[in-house]
Amino acid sequence: MSYPLLLEPLDLGFTTIKNRSIMGSMHTGLEEMEGGFERMAAYYAERAANDIGMIITGGIAPNEEASSGGAMMSGEEEAAKHRLVTDAVHRAADDVKICMQILHPGPLAHTKNAVAPSAVKSRIARYVPNELDKAGIQKQIDDHVRCAVMARKAGYDGVEIIGSAGYLISTFLVQKTNLRDDEYGGSYENRMRFALEIVEQTRAAVGEDFIIIFRIAAMDMLEGGMSWEEVVTLAKRLEQAGVTIISTHFTWHESAVPTIATLVPRAAFTSVTGRLRKEVNVPVITSNRINMPQVAEEVLARGDADLVSMARPLLADSAFMRKTIEGREDEINTCIACNQACLDHTFSGKLTSCLVNPRACHETILNYEPVVKPKHIAVVGAGPAGLAYATVAAERGHKVSLFETSSEIGGQFNLAKTIPGKEEFYETIRYYNRMIEVHGIDLRLNTKADVAMLKAEGFDQIILSTGIKPRTPDIKGINHPKVVSYIDVITGQKQVGKKVAIIGAGGIGFDVCELISHAGPSGAVDRDVFAAEWGVDFESHPRGGVTGVESKVAKSDREITLLQRKESRVGAGLGKTTGWAHRIALARRDVGMMNGVEYVKIDDDGLHILQNGQPQLLKVDTIIICAGQDPLRDMYDDLISEGIQTELVGGAYEAMELDAKAAINQASYMAAAV
Ligand code: NAP
Ligand code: SF4
Repeated sequence: MSYPLLLEPLDLGFTTIKNRSIMGSMHTGLEEMEGGFERMAAYYAERAANDIGMIITGGIAPNEEASSGGAMMSGEEEAAKHRLVTDAVHRAADDVKICMQILHPGPLAHTKNAVAPSAVKSRIARYVPNELDKAGIQKQIDDHVRCAVMARKAGYDGVEIIGSAGYLISTFLVQKTNLRDDEYGGSYENRMRFALEIVEQTRAAVGEDFIIIFRIAAMDMLEGGMSWEEVVTLAKRLEQAGVTIISTHFTWHESAVPTIATLVPRAAFTSVTGRLRKEVNVPVITSNRINMPQVAEEVLARGDADLVSMARPLLADSAFMRKTIEGREDEINTCIACNQACLDHTFSGKLTSCLVNPRACHETILNYEPVVKPKHIAVVGAGPAGLAYATVAAERGHKVSLFETSSEIGGQFNLAKTIPGKEEFYETIRYYNRMIEVHGIDLRLNTKADVAMLKAEGFDQIILSTGIKPRTPDIKGINHPKVVSYIDVITGQKQVGKKVAIIGAGGIGFDVCELISHAGPSGAVDRDVFAAEWGVDFESHPRGGVTGVESKVAKSDREITLLQRKESRVGAGLGKTTGWAHRIALARRDVGMMNGVEYVKIDDDGLHILQNGQPQLLKVDTIIICAGQDPLRDMYDDLISEGIQTELVGGAYEAMELDAKAAINQASYMAAAV
């Protein structure tokens, strides 16, 4: 496929963006780390060298109230550090633009000094913010302006001012967070004043030939949030105030509608940008769940936007745009929107990376250098760990044979891809299939490798990535015909009755619950289903897109209970940025959740448990075991005793707490060093 619209330059008058792709803002954690600027320079330069049109950095605070100890740009000293980044990007490609995002979290800052138009605490904030007085407001405006001036000094081509997400500027705009009765509160004209003064004064200070992007919440997903008329009015006034580009955002962080998780359909929100685009004369950026060039091209073809922002997809594959330009889109390592190594890390104070690409933000540490003396390596098991190991080792020049007992690669990815809302795993399997071809891996499907075979072929090294076997808990009656394993359920080999108990409420327990409680098409592939389930009205756009819209969920007729022994909240161990959405989705389908459970026995009557010492009988006809995993490494001892150099990776190495992120990460580092 060709991508004429995505690859078309955009003339801004004083400068040109070389194509319509933007690497969206993403805080990485490198901003605050010692030596982080060198690593950030390498991270962004690699994306610039691979033809992204424009980069927007992670958010940088304009002052102390905003930074709460994090990265800040308020003076010459900080600007000098950023030079490392801007010089590296412009050296990598002098036609790539880089803009710094100015992020003032306002009431969401992790500090008692947090400021806001009014002392209204956000549901997700730590502190009640301090209400700004008039002088305080002018200081915030001045600090934004100084921050932009310093960004220019630091060599940036522009700034993005974030006016969405529940951060400072957006809290001036929305009535429920702005209770002021002075000229910055009350009427909408007054509530817009702060945003407009920031833009006007920034434009005056930085000159005409500097990009100013303003990020607007085009649909903030808040009950009582901004109306469509307010969004349009703001956009028009921002244009008059001097913005170069308007970027559309679709959430406040406290909203209860998922907008970037994998259960959100691709490009779900771009029609909203499309409506706004008709109202303004400046270019508009759209975003959210645009993870392949085909999707971006379709968005542009519909006229929904002038520019397409992709943040996580550029973590997943630094060469996304180079592969697009060269027609190698089938080689793109696609972002599956899991958030597991990016946003879950960001919000847990860990360094950002990517589940499918552990090199992201580790460009100076993890590199796949060509080998001097290639080895002949056997990788046994083509699940996440085996695939990562085999493809990295082969990319480096090793001769790799990959053995897989089943008829397809993917291992546990093949289970995940069938769960409603996890369809993106098809892309990961497509990527690895293509990498196997590109790197000339000798793939042997339907082949059960054994010690004799591996020995006979004389491999220099064996990698056992044989994965896991589901754990069978020690419960009286566990062999009763009512009991089935999650694998049999997901693969459809065993029927599930109407009354179901699920033993184990980890990631897989939730996945199975999602699968069997579901009726009708997956919301991740059908936007109408998504909109109905999450109560979003894209067309008539009530305030925030959600005000007064009821959620309508298609439920299966099963009665399901999800159980765990731990006293903690069921689902507490799920991803920080996605677990809440899974819990809400299952609650809406009336799935029962029980914690602090002791399993007593299983018999013809059902599952007998104790909860808080009280006996209970769950009269169920199916009991699904999702009780974690044990390593599967049958050949290991025999290979070692034969004196064959053998290493374990992924679930075969350690099944506790194992997931695809850990498996791919471990395998990639090992294969980079072999
Ligand atoms: P898991 O997350 O470790 O959960 C295992 C569950 O089984 C727990 O709820 C545990 O709770 C229970 N359990 C453990 N031993 C048991 C025993 N002997 N008897 C009864 N119950 C027992 O494992 P998983 O669900 O198999 O998932 C495997 C990995 O894949 C995990 O790391 C998971 O995070 C990952 N994964 C992630 C996702 C995702 O969406 N992020 C989806 C699927 C899988 P109690 O000990 O409290 O009973
Ligand atoms: Fe995408 Fe998951 Fe990687 Fe984040 S960790 S960039 S969501 S694939």
